[in-house]
Amino acid sequence: MGVLYVVATPIGNLEDLSPRARRILGDVSLVAAEDTRHTGSMLRRLGIGTPLISNHGFNERSRVERLLEALADGDVALVSDAGTPAISDPGAIFVRAAAEAGYKVIPIPGPSAVTAAVSASGLVDGQFLFVGFLPRASGERDKTLSAALKSGVPLVLYESGNRINALCESLESNAPNREIAVFRELTKLHEQAIRGVAADLSTLLTDISRKGEFVVVVGVGAETNPVDLDQLIRHELAHGRKASDIARELAKQTDQPRSEIYDRVLVLSKTDNQGA
Ligand code: SAM
Repeated sequence: MGVLYVVATPIGNLEDLSPRARRILGDVSLVAAEDTRHTGSMLRRLGIGTPLISNHGFNERSRVERLLEALADGDVALVSDAGTPAISDPGAIFVRAAAEAGYKVIPIPGPSAVTAAVSASGLVDGQFLFVGFLPRASGERDKTLSAALKSGVPLVLYESGNRINALCESLESNAPNREIAVFRELTKLHEQAIRGVAADLSTLLTDISRKGEFVVVVGVGAETNPVDLDQLIRHELAHGRKASDIARELAKQTDQPRSEIYDRVLVLSKTDNQGA
């Protein structure tokens, strides 16, 4: 009975492949790859001739039976195009089926864009929420992002160069005060990082290319205590702004629920007027 090895591969720099991963890719009977051409070229560069089978996201379900047959005959290594399988990549369906069928599943840890970005962000000290890719449609994207922002822990977002502008626009409007670190092309020759607050993202991004792969780490916002919130509300009231406008704007700024801010605006406008 074979073993399923879930093998992390480099996210851009071949030197990041661990010696253990390299040995296992050479020892197994079959490598199940997201894209056989992509992994084939990596194996050739390593001088490894193990046969490949495709386990693309589109065929993962239909492939499971074939992959389980292969496991019955010998060890199989599962890889994705880059990084760790099953992290915003295919793999979970096969891993689950193998475990359910009683096969031993052994992870071979290594590169992943999420851990690389978290470790170099300086914005994570404990928990974080890995969001991965946000939905493409702008309404869904804002909805998912604002729910994630409410988690109260730093976020990690994946995005490709094609849509990094849309992601930054969502962050600018939904979390202007949050500290962010944007990593582009990690481990590659033209690796870049920028740091700042989300409100300045479009300006900051003018300094780096929009092509390639991105990870964005969003820090937790500064705590807004009730006194700060009251001050902000009074400032807006002093400028004659409507309660609903104040609530909408401060909810974005402070990540606090709009309805609670609205109620507080009503309380303050009443008590302050009585005191006047
Ligand atoms: N399984 C991979 C992992 O463990 O990170 C992630 C695969 S996911 C399909 C691809 C996304 O990961 C990219 O769009 C980007 O957000 C992120 N990513 C992968 N490689 C990267 C790199 N070298 N630099 C920055 N982000 C990267």
